[in-house]
Amino acid sequence: MAYTPQVVDAKIVSDNPKNGLFEVLAVLKDRCQCRIGFERTPSGEEHATHVNRLFTEPCPVCRKDFLCNCMTKFLPTIAEQALQIVKTKA
Ligand SMILES: [Zn+2]
Repeated sequence: MAYTPQVVDAKIVSDNPKNGLFEVLAVLKDRCQCRIGFERTPSGEEHATHVNRLFTEPCPVCRKDFLCNCMTKFLPTIAEQALQIVKTKA
């Protein structure tokens, strides 16, 4: 697949210190927006668990404007870029 997600902005939108779960809202270069769920492992690493595309724009991969699972394929890439941006801002 030719699609290469490029995260241009990201911010933490929810953070639960008790269970180590947090969510990041990521904005992609193609204006696609995703909420990415993370969990912190006991060793302090962030691990992406899921991604939900917001329906502000049609999916950049399949062009649907409703639920699809395309972003799940790109979760590792999107999550890594989003975390980098969040940490740069912090
Ligand atoms: Zn799609």
